[in-house]
Amino acid sequence: MHNSVMKAWWDSSHMAGSNAAYVEELYETYLENPLNVSDSWKAIFDELPKVEGVTVEANHTSIRDSFRKMAALGPSARMGAPPPSAGDSSGDVKQVKVLQLINAYRFRGHQHANLDPLGLWKQERVRDLELSFHNLSEADFDVIYSLGSYAVGKEKMPLGELFKSLNHTYCGSIGSEYMHITDTEQKRWIQHYLESVEAKPTFDRNAKLKILKGLVAADGMEKYLGNKFTGAKRFSLEGGDALVPMLKGLICAAGESGAKEVVLGMAHRGRLNVLVNVLGKNPSVLFDEFAGKHDGTLGAGDVKYHAGFSSDFATDGGNVHLALAFNPSHLEIVNPVVMGSVRARQARRNCVNGSAVVPITIHGDAAIVGQGVVQETFNMSQTRGFSVGGTVRIVINNQVGFTTSKIEDARSTQYCTDIAKMVQAPIFHVNADDPEAVSFVTKLALDYRNTFKRDVVIDLVCYRRHGHNEADEPSATQPLMYKKIKKHPVARQIYADQLIAQGIIEKYEVEKMISDYRAALDHGACVVEEWRPMTAHSVDWSPYLGHDWDVDYDGSVSKERLVELGQSITSFPESHILHSRINKLYNDRVSMIKGERMIDWGMAENLAYATILDYGSDIRFTGQDSGRGTFFHRHSVLHNQTDASTYIPLQHLRAGQGEIEIYDSVLSEAAVMAFEYGFATAEPGTLTIWEAQFGDFANGAQVVFDQFLSSGEAKWGRLCGLTVLLPHGYEGQGPEHSSARLERFLQLCADHNWQVCVPSTPAQVYNMLRRQAVRPMRKPLIVMSPKSLLRHPLAVSSIDDLSTGIFYNVIDEIDELTLEKVSRVVMCSGKVYYDLLEQRRENELNNVAIVRIEQLYPFPSKELEAVATKYAHVSDWVWCQEEPQNQGAWYSSQHHFRNTIPQGATLAYAGREASASPAVGYITVHNQQQKALVENALIIKQGT
Ligand code: AMP
Repeated sequence: MHNSVMKAWWDSSHMAGSNAAYVEELYETYLENPLNVSDSWKAIFDELPKVEGVTVEANHTSIRDSFRKMAALGPSARMGAPPPSAGDSSGDVKQVKVLQLINAYRFRGHQHANLDPLGLWKQERVRDLELSFHNLSEADFDVIYSLGSYAVGKEKMPLGELFKSLNHTYCGSIGSEYMHITDTEQKRWIQHYLESVEAKPTFDRNAKLKILKGLVAADGMEKYLGNKFTGAKRFSLEGGDALVPMLKGLICAAGESGAKEVVLGMAHRGRLNVLVNVLGKNPSVLFDEFAGKHDGTLGAGDVKYHAGFSSDFATDGGNVHLALAFNPSHLEIVNPVVMGSVRARQARRNCVNGSAVVPITIHGDAAIVGQGVVQETFNMSQTRGFSVGGTVRIVINNQVGFTTSKIEDARSTQYCTDIAKMVQAPIFHVNADDPEAVSFVTKLALDYRNTFKRDVVIDLVCYRRHGHNEADEPSATQPLMYKKIKKHPVARQIYADQLIAQGIIEKYEVEKMISDYRAALDHGACVVEEWRPMTAHSVDWSPYLGHDWDVDYDGSVSKERLVELGQSITSFPESHILHSRINKLYNDRVSMIKGERMIDWGMAENLAYATILDYGSDIRFTGQDSGRGTFFHRHSVLHNQTDASTYIPLQHLRAGQGEIEIYDSVLSEAAVMAFEYGFATAEPGTLTIWEAQFGDFANGAQVVFDQFLSSGEAKWGRLCGLTVLLPHGYEGQGPEHSSARLERFLQLCADHNWQVCVPSTPAQVYNMLRRQAVRPMRKPLIVMSPKSLLRHPLAVSSIDDLSTGIFYNVIDEIDELTLEKVSRVVMCSGKVYYDLLEQRRENELNNVAIVRIEQLYPFPSKELEAVATKYAHVSDWVWCQEEPQNQGAWYSSQHHFRNTIPQGATLAYAGREASASPAVGYITVHNQQQKALVENALIIKQGT
């Protein structure tokens, strides 16, 4: 063939980049049976590399690359094999076109699927789905073609039948998007699942009646609430009724495939319905809540459509424990909480592949694409520290986000689910008015998740019958949509009519189903047949309930045991070659254990972890650079310099010790913090720690602090022992890396909701961590952790200091001052203590005592009172802080200081002036400020 013809063929051929997937598809067909592709393609594939004479399935990237190369080199690279072209027999060309048609449906069939129950979606014409695009026509309908990998159970089919089959499979009530997945096994698996039944399996009578029952319940519940509590906000499910049979089917299938627990997260829409019709919440309890009654067990409480719930659910595979996570109004933030909770439960069940505990998250269409935390959770989904073996994600797609109905206002993507493609999750769009299709994709999604341990998305395309809530007037902003909705029959009616037409059920039986459900609600008892009293959950919280801060606990560890543990955590295999700096640090640690050096911060922290593991408790530690510590002080994970392998000495203390996992987290705050909150609220036996690189980064997780950590116990009665390490301290590093915004945490303090600590010595951090693990209380612990103190020569402790087991909330003056001479007491927290101490020593001031407050909340009034009694004669008291006056502890804690100092004494402020920015950017200004605040605190000016 003439070279220019060849060139034209190559340029226009399927080998040009955009048809790579098509070539791949042909190649797969060839692998299955070389005779199923045309001779010309066979000749090309025959040229590919072989192993011992056998064509092996090569990695598809390399196949694409090799074709790209061939295309780039031009025809001569093909070593003589004739290209498929107009010169081939027309049958061959048509066969190729048929395979191309199959491929087009697999890729783009979803764009012609019947997904919108209201029929309002304007679908673009997709030319690839038309016969003419492939040079085929109805005239070819009787010609029999090979189907390649099309998995309908036959090798060949007349084109007419194939065309019908493709339309059923890919353009019915299900729109499948999975061709973006690069892994061939996954793609084939999905193709087989869909194509073998043309996306429409047969349901037996029982299964159909079950679905109908679910729809009757979903609709019945909303109608009942609407009549009984007209106008009250309930965020009705109506329009998305299929969710109820869908979830029940999903839980049943999960149970049958071996799951023992299912954790669900969802926002408000449909929540009351799910609570009553899936989790089995007693309707009478819900009605009481509507009527404003409450039993007062949950402190401040929360609105009913945020409530969580726990129950057991009977399935053919045994009882499954269900936990619906409590949720604030902040959409999507519950997803990482659910994942964290699932990870904790999987760990408790020693389940490494995720099969025992299944996460289900339910999203809104505007929220899943609008809220960044969703992306964060997708990013976490396959990482070592955060994977849960895949999440089944369901979108309740109302086609309206609050009042934003125009897609161009809500997103920049075709589907709200496009974000899932970042992890190559398959996405199944499904028309919610076809509950059998919903049921089918639900099972498909779960089976995919269980098989591949990856996330999967079901986009339940529905509508919202009553606007954002029941007080809303949606036609004001969506006139056309609501005109349509008003006339649109409910899903229950549509499906019941179908079943009546199929002779499955009589009309009167449907009516009886409806009235029986209503009567059950009147009766007020649980309406979920599968509901079982809760026994299947696996953790007992009772040891942690009802304690006060002064609950007894023994935090001490003998000096001998500390030394033994110290030896263990400084040991590692000889073959594990350390970096010279780490080697020195570890040699220093050995000297500390021998008593030749004082213990520094990093060693004290590691010793705390060792003692907790030795006690048998587990530790989970994630954060930003946590393995080594942002400031290079921790080094709990040792990196072998020869092969980059890692060794964690804390994992090798003794047989039967607690387990520790330490992960440098993905670069996120909100999702990671929420994940750890979820973990800690599900697992009281593990010391769970999250660490920020710099404390101020925690404000990327503000919603987690506000909506969960500080208020979760008050709102929902859920305890949480999460420890948060936030590096804080004014070292002249500028506005962003100085302050962990202590004032914010202090402002949120009330009702004994959490602890805010500022430990200033290695012994203090050691005993603080131990207290958090050993004391039978589970309260969040917010720590202003140090930076320069990690290496400060004065910030050291002895083994004896550690072994006391006591964390001191207040530390009195340590130098031997003559009490009578003391005329000023300076109170402070954190690193500034050492600045004050050094300055005072340098200036040889013997009239100023320095008292450290190591726990700012709950405020240690008793301990400080004891100190104040000692200095009862002192009337000049100062609070010194590094932070600007409007920040730090001054405004939030001064009432505590004033209440505690001797009567008649004055309290002065020594610190930076109020400032909009947390710190200055210029080191010289920083130094001047720091010097001035220390002097102000120490030097008593004449006449004052
Ligand atoms: P779950 O496994 O989350 O469904 O919880 C089962 C039961 O354990 C709940 O009904 C609570 O009684 C209790 N529980 C679970 N988590 C907590 C928590 N964080 N604090 C206190 N009690 C909890």
